[in-house]
Amino acid sequence: MEAVAVIGAGLAGSEAALQIAGAGFDVILHEMRPVVQTAAHQTAHCAELVCSNSLGSALPDRAGGVLQAELRVLGCQLLPLAEKNSVPAGAALAVDRLLFGQAVTAAIEAHPRIELRRGELAAIPDGNCIVASGPLTSAALAMAIQRLTGTDHLAFFDAIAPVVVADSLDLEVIFAGARWGTGEPDYLNIPLTKAEYDTFVDGLLRADKHEMKDFEAADPRAKQFFERCLPVEVLAARGRESLRFGPLRPVGLDDPRSGRWPWAVLQLRRENALGTLYNLVGFQTNLKYGPQQELLRSLPGMQNAEFVRLGSMHRNTFLNSPQVLYSTLEFRRRPGLFFAGQITGMEGYLGNIGSGLLAGLNMVQRLLGKEPATPPRETLLGALTQHVAESPSPNFQPMKAEFGLLPPLVPPVKKALRRQAYAARSAAEMAGFRHNLGLDTASPALPEDHANHL
Ligand SMILES: Cc1cc2nc3c(=O)[nH]c(=O)nc-3n(C[C@H](O)[C@H](O)[C@H](O)COP(=O)(O)OP(=O)(O)OC[C@H]3O[C@@H](n4cnc5c(N)ncnc54)[C@H](O)[C@@H]3O)c2cc1C
Repeated sequence: MEAVAVIGAGLAGSEAALQIAGAGFDVILHEMRPVVQTAAHQTAHCAELVCSNSLGSALPDRAGGVLQAELRVLGCQLLPLAEKNSVPAGAALAVDRLLFGQAVTAAIEAHPRIELRRGELAAIPDGNCIVASGPLTSAALAMAIQRLTGTDHLAFFDAIAPVVVADSLDLEVIFAGARWGTGEPDYLNIPLTKAEYDTFVDGLLRADKHEMKDFEAADPRAKQFFERCLPVEVLAARGRESLRFGPLRPVGLDDPRSGRWPWAVLQLRRENALGTLYNLVGFQTNLKYGPQQELLRSLPGMQNAEFVRLGSMHRNTFLNSPQVLYSTLEFRRRPGLFFAGQITGMEGYLGNIGSGLLAGLNMVQRLLGKEPATPPRETLLGALTQHVAESPSPNFQPMKAEFGLLPPLVPPVKKALRRQAYAARSAAEMAGFRHNLGLDTASPALPEDHANHL
């Protein structure tokens, strides 16, 4: 059987390669570094962490800890290496990034079924392949992906608006309704008086903002993108009324309490099919996270808002996954071609390792002549992959694993106990998924000396 091609030895590609090789199949892992560098990586190591060295909370009732537990159940290969090379970081799993990168590289180089081939791949090979080339996919490969998906289905920057948990909103103040009262009242509307609007605009102009990184500013596509997708603070700086005539337009929105249009309205739109999350429409922003949360919580009805994502704008190559991927991470139009990692629209180091794990397991399913599978929606990995492949948002943007993506607990559980209940449900569901994939009975995949090396 021909070797599986994996493009990109980052977090997702390294995990996928180890999974496939571990199941007894040959892999050629293509990594362009150090022959061609990205603007963010510093080394030639596989699975280099480019910024923070934290893989998130390790507490068993936090999203990070629950996702870690799920990945362990599925036999994740990178997680034990992260634990072996961890540094003290309180309740978080943080690693010495050099030692972690070296350990992953060593595991890959030592594996008898993996060939690590250094050099840029400019085309997607025929045959079984996983594309895991990350947020800084090389230009030539990005063009090849666009040829496959259509130019509309690959973005080079994200423009993320904050996403909030529905049941943290005060619906005594925020009202449901459609503009001009036409159609279903699908939107939630935050009404602002003139005084509230003025205070909000002042806060927006005063708040600390993230500066664009040098490599982002130097990108010839950046200017065009930022002009098309203006952050709200830039719009506000163009004139006090700009937001009121732009994303905070109140026309046609009667506040049921007054029967009149408010001075301005910030609209919220469903982010997921379950209706557990809402995004702030047109509210892409580069405000720093602390001031951003503070400002948004100062809005009427938002005082207890829980955010699963805050606004940001970055250089980021990602697919319009709901149009092109199944939740198994397989490309809809070509069986045997999978995408994994940040290019699928997932965020977070751990989620990206998880996507590599899932793509790897599903590639193995294909190689065994079986159908790829999706983890249950009640697990964070399943909820994230299903969100990525099925998000109803017309403007799909990346997302990380958060409890807000999970379906509500049945019967309902008190807020104080909800996180533990999510964790327990996920553990039971993931154990079932592992069993269904046949992983309970899988024979040890690594030769003895290699297992010792890990
Ligand atoms: C500047 C920056 C800061 C970030 N900070 C954080 C953070 O603090 N926390 C966080 O969770 N996430 C952060 N991210 C996102 C982070 O990149 C992902 O979470 C994670 O690294 C994605 O894993 P991946 O495997 O998809 O991509 P990567 O880890 O980037 O791996 C992709 C690999 O593909 C290779 N490649 C690309 N094109 C080709 C080609 N044509 N041929 C062969 N190889 C190729 C690249 O060299 C790279 O090694 C940041 C991203 C950037 C750009």
